[in-house]
Amino acid sequence: MPRRRKNDEVLQLRARIEDLELRMKLLEARMRAGLPQARAPQREAAQRSRAVRRQRPRARCPGCLLELPPGRKGDSCVWCGFRFEAVRPVYL
Ligand SMILES: [Zn+2]
Repeated sequence: MPRRRKNDEVLQLRARIEDLELRMKLLEARMRAGLPQARAPQREAAQRSRAVRRQRPRARCPGCLLELPPGRKGDSCVWCGFRFEAVRPVYL
């Protein structure tokens, strides 16, 4: 009796394994078929985000939050006249 039950369990497990293997093969085939289309936009998005990251944030006036012109910085904002002595420029 116990031996018979064990045989049944083994057969059930084999059937499940076969079923799972078949499903895996189907999924792998579907992935392989879908990858060429799926990969292109992803690469494009990665390049775009890399380009965005390359742009350095420019110092902004703490008073009006406008970007300060590059190069020599004066004591006050060229846009609103905010004095930089108290607060350092912020980077957004
Ligand atoms: Zn300002």
